[in-house]
Amino acid sequence: MLATAHAGGWPVVRGGSQALADALARRLGDLGGSVETGRRVNGLGDLPAARTYLFDVSPWQLAEICGAALAPRYVAALRRFRRGPGVFKLDYALSGAIPWRDPACLRAATVHVGGPLEEVAAAEADAASGRLAERPFLLVVQASLGDPTRAPEGRHTAWVYCHVPNGCDVDLTERVERILEEHAPGFRDTVLARRALTAQGMERHNPNCAGGDIGGGRNSVRQLLFRPVLGLRPYATPNPRIFLCSASTPPGGGVHGMCGWHAAQSVLRRHGAASRAAGREPSSPR
Ligand SMILES: Cc1cc2nc3c(=O)[nH]c(=O)nc-3n(C[C@H](O)[C@H](O)[C@H](O)COP(=O)(O)OP(=O)(O)OC[C@H]3O[C@@H](n4cnc5c(N)ncnc54)[C@H](O)[C@@H]3O)c2cc1C
Repeated sequence: MLATAHAGGWPVVRGGSQALADALARRLGDLGGSVETGRRVNGLGDLPAARTYLFDVSPWQLAEICGAALAPRYVAALRRFRRGPGVFKLDYALSGAIPWRDPACLRAATVHVGGPLEEVAAAEADAASGRLAERPFLLVVQASLGDPTRAPEGRHTAWVYCHVPNGCDVDLTERVERILEEHAPGFRDTVLARRALTAQGMERHNPNCAGGDIGGGRNSVRQLLFRPVLGLRPYATPNPRIFLCSASTPPGGGVHGMCGWHAAQSVLRRHGAASRAAGREPSSPR
């Protein structure tokens, strides 16, 4: 995925990311599945009876939802999983394209805005150690430049995020826009509407983003190799009916979908083994 980003530019979904979720839901529908949204699952009792459950949640949520059905040692290990920094995000409706000083920036869907390496490294180190960076490193996405379906003709959308300490509830709009103005003088004049989301707001929006961490947990060497706990079967849990398939499993955060793919393989292997033990043909898990 990173190679694609560097070779051809960071890809975005035509029509907005919702279009990708809609396509996946349609595909599931074609296969006989259905999706129910708008209902928070707080415990196993909120779910219908099933042979297998795959949870697309953080380890801390898995501990809350399934704690009583899992071994206490495993639950304690889930709770020890460490969070990454949070993000502060701004969504924009703009009257025109961002007036970058360097017009080359108008050729990229995603622009990383930072100073010299030392400044970027210092800003990221600040966020990771619980401090607000004076000059945060910004990730600016201007997807409407390449996808006119996202905004009325001549107008544009954009969003920006930067790392902040986990759980931070500070609105950084002023700080972020001051930096954007330096690189794109007149940017503020193009803003028709803005929406700010603090790291805590991000968690309210999606409880998986604990403290605003959008990567499913800290990317330390240990947590990259062993997510969510130390072990060789990261998707399985001590309960043979319960699996984890979120970004808190290998290979970690991102929209690559590989966590779900590996989790599904893990479920199929378990069902195959169970069927073989019972002398039956392996069947698809319900
Ligand atoms: C602003 C932003 C920018 C990003 N940019 C990129 C990028 O450029 N490239 C990239 O690869 N990745 C990016 N990511 C990260 C990527 O989106 C995540 O790593 C990925 O979506 C995690 O997938 P997931 O399936 O683990 O969880 P999610 O995508 O969070 O899906 C979990 C779903 O379960 C729901 N849910 C959670 N808890 C419950 C509950 N208790 N009951 C019911 N439903 C629940 C949530 O609402 C959500 O719909 C970005 C994320 C954000 C927020």
